[in-house]
Amino acid sequence: MQRNDSLKQKVRHALRLDRAVRFVWEAGPGWTIASLVLVFIQGALPLLTLYIMKLIVDGVALAIIAPDKAAAFRSVALLIGFAFGIALLNALCRMISGLVKEAQALEVTDHIYNLIHAKSIEVDLAYYENPQYFDSLHRAQQEGPYRPTRIVNDLVQLGQNGIALTAIAGLLFYFHWAIAVVLFVAAVPGVLVHLRHSGKLYRWQRSRTADERRANYLNWILTGEPHAKEIRLFGLGDLFIRRFSDLRQRLRREQFEISRKKSVADLGAQAGATLAVFGCLGFIVFRTVQGGITLGDMVMYFGAFQRGLGYLQNMLGGLAALYEDNLFISSFYEFLDLEPRVEEPLYPATLPRPMQRGIVLDHVSFQYPSGNREVLKDISLHIRPGQVVALVGENGSGKTTLIKLLCRLYDPSKGTITWDGIDLQRFKISDLRRELSIIFQDYMQYHTTARENIWFGNIELDPNAEKIKAAAQHAGVDTLISHLPKGYETLLGKWFEDGEELSIGQWQKMALARAFVRDSQIIVLDEPTSALDVKTEYEVFQRFRKLLDGRTAILISHRFSTVRMADRIFVLEGGRISENGSHEELMHYGGKYANLFEKQATFYR
Ligand code: ADP
Repeated sequence: MQRNDSLKQKVRHALRLDRAVRFVWEAGPGWTIASLVLVFIQGALPLLTLYIMKLIVDGVALAIIAPDKAAAFRSVALLIGFAFGIALLNALCRMISGLVKEAQALEVTDHIYNLIHAKSIEVDLAYYENPQYFDSLHRAQQEGPYRPTRIVNDLVQLGQNGIALTAIAGLLFYFHWAIAVVLFVAAVPGVLVHLRHSGKLYRWQRSRTADERRANYLNWILTGEPHAKEIRLFGLGDLFIRRFSDLRQRLRREQFEISRKKSVADLGAQAGATLAVFGCLGFIVFRTVQGGITLGDMVMYFGAFQRGLGYLQNMLGGLAALYEDNLFISSFYEFLDLEPRVEEPLYPATLPRPMQRGIVLDHVSFQYPSGNREVLKDISLHIRPGQVVALVGENGSGKTTLIKLLCRLYDPSKGTITWDGIDLQRFKISDLRRELSIIFQDYMQYHTTARENIWFGNIELDPNAEKIKAAAQHAGVDTLISHLPKGYETLLGKWFEDGEELSIGQWQKMALARAFVRDSQIIVLDEPTSALDVKTEYEVFQRFRKLLDGRTAILISHRFSTVRMADRIFVLEGGRISENGSHEELMHYGGKYANLFEKQATFYR
């Protein structure tokens, strides 16, 4: 059974060659054709060279005993001229094919990056919470960009060497069958060494991905901007440098050990091949001395044997390289073949606009794919159109998770979420997300212009639309932007030259403006105002209520001055809704909400 599987796998690997060829072809069909033409020319030239060499030597042998030496020399000189021409042509072909290969490789690399990027944004968020995904991405980024070109080059090399070798093996066979056989036998050990080494290297690299990523992570901590402050303050630099170099040293030693073993085995294989070369030389000389062949023949056959061995070694080496490249590129395919788990419906329903009955969560429970417990438990709630709803609860009570389900970053493990009675899973995901404007706690700070920071919230707008300024005003950030050196065209952040760094509160307001500019039916703010002072937050929400203009809003906030503005408040405790109602109702009820409210009120008094 297992043997069957591994056979199937091998066949699958072999079939995958076409996939690599397709990537290369897609990236640049013209270059691929040029490569093929060059292969044929370069494959045929060696035999021609050998034959001219034979003619030259025989010509010289005749000239030595010819009566008209000048005429005899002229005909030999003509042959030398020919050989020179062919050598030039060969050099030209090599130069052109080098350029073609480079152009092809550059195009393929960019093409592959496009594929990797497209896949990265296509897969679900769930993958980003899974270390195996990052291993897979790491391998794809390591192997993807250059292996397809290598595979095609391997194939080209194989073709070229194959053509040359067939011609030369035919010639040797004509001389003596045994020489042709020795030629093939001599090349085998080298290939076996290579195959073994590839397999070892592949298994080693796969098992080392996590360590390599850990080393990259340490490198990022040591050189990245987000950690620069803390690393210095806590004096962590030397510790992390040591950890990094320990890791790298181990990886380096292991890799070197594999290479060392390969080199020793290689030496053995080379010794065998050299023995074959000199054995054959002896045999060819023996036949020449016996008078069986001319001196020119001797030069030709010996040259043929030497070159033939070279081609064969190249060819079998090419096969081994093909095997290796194919092995490694499977990591890249693995990544490309990841399937989104949040599925698109086959026949999507039309999303009601405007919403009539609202959003209903019906006995919804949820467990993260990587988690081991339910973080939402049997949640049922109804959000009506135009309502402003607040979610409150301690950290980790499941508020953000609930929002993630609403925008289908995940699907519920149990229960359903409906929009006007239609399950969210029946809408096209992009249609659903268009209706949601969400700013998460860990919102983005785009190191682009202030205008783009807002415009990214709704790229269907013209970047110069009036709405962008209006959104900035609503978020209370218009004045700030107007006072920046280049106004809306000022670059934000410190990543690039002339960038203006903002405070966290100011970045949050930019994120709010981004949410406001989106033309969606529901706005969700997940603590995006935590860095604003109480007064500013209050003002933002006062404006926010007006701005909503009938839209539905969900707020997550720890500030009860904000929360109390909501029409309805849901209190989450350990993944369950423990209370819900208006501020007054909940205060009257005197439960958890009232308790938390009182505590905070005392604090601010
Ligand atoms: P809140 O927004 O109320 O602070 P969250 O919804 O972020 O809480 O988290 C709820 C629970 O889910 C927490 O216990 C957290 O540890 C867990 N959790 C959050 N994200 C993930 C994740 N990606 N994988 C596994 N568990 C998670």
